[in-house]
Amino acid sequence: MITMTYSAPAKINLSLDILRKRKDGFHDMRMVMQTITLHDTLILHPHCGGGRITLSCGGAQVPCGEENLAWKAAQLFFEETDTPCDGLEMELRKRIPVSAGMAGGSADAAVVLKALRGLYRPSLPREELERIALKVGSDVPFCVRGGTVLAEGRGEQMTSLARMPRCPVVLCKPGFGISTPELFGRVTVSRLKTHPDTRGLVKAIALGDLRMAAGKLGNVFEEVLPQEYGEVFEIRDRLLGAGALNAGMTGSGPTVFALFDDETRAKGAYEALAKDYSETYLEKIL
Ligand code: ATP
Repeated sequence: MITMTYSAPAKINLSLDILRKRKDGFHDMRMVMQTITLHDTLILHPHCGGGRITLSCGGAQVPCGEENLAWKAAQLFFEETDTPCDGLEMELRKRIPVSAGMAGGSADAAVVLKALRGLYRPSLPREELERIALKVGSDVPFCVRGGTVLAEGRGEQMTSLARMPRCPVVLCKPGFGISTPELFGRVTVSRLKTHPDTRGLVKAIALGDLRMAAGKLGNVFEEVLPQEYGEVFEIRDRLLGAGALNAGMTGSGPTVFALFDDETRAKGAYEALAKDYSETYLEKIL
């Protein structure tokens, strides 16, 4: 049996802006997305399983059938590329927290698409893989591409940026989940008081200026966060108090991330928060 192992890295939103609600129900977004070192692991056994796709998730709190984005990605890959499925066994080892604003499911889907391209259709153009990715979900095209990206439209209009400096990142997820549709439902674009300075952020990244980039973090979902999720801001304030350059919520939360320019301070912040929150991570920009 052939065994292949892949990493599926999580993302953070250095910025997240909503520009308008579209007629098709989606929103036009403007986001700077960034891959980080925190990752799930995908183990593949190709050409196995009697022509079927199978998936195991090792007890993680995620669906393990057709609703799993990794499964959906595999099925769509075979369909959209007219590749006969000769059987595929997949095993996911989840480490990215679920429903945390870190695109865990999208990361898994993206790594499946990239792995299957490598195995079955090495000459498939990147644009074609990103088109299939968008059918799986709005964040999947970014996860296929990775790095530092300005993502617009639903997230599929991507411009790769210069890489962010490889600084330490502390992430902390409070013990509740936030529904992404609920948060979108709370946004009336014309009533938003502030929008992130995405242009300034892109410029700071181009200059390789970590401190300036950190100063430009922003996420419009923070403005509409219901009061009962105020712990998000308590965590942010603790990270700032521990010496972060800046901190904010990623995606639709509730995970808060903080950028540091100093390993020792990042470790101190991580250790302090890990005492109170089991889902705390000390990672890096990838
Ligand atoms: P995003 O940042 O893209 O909004 P998220 O990090 O908030 O995503 P996920 O961890 O991707 O959220 O999970 C969202 C939902 O997707 C959950 O309800 C989960 O059950 C489902 N799901 C399907 N497949 C997966 C997967 N492979 N890993 C995690 N969740 C999955």
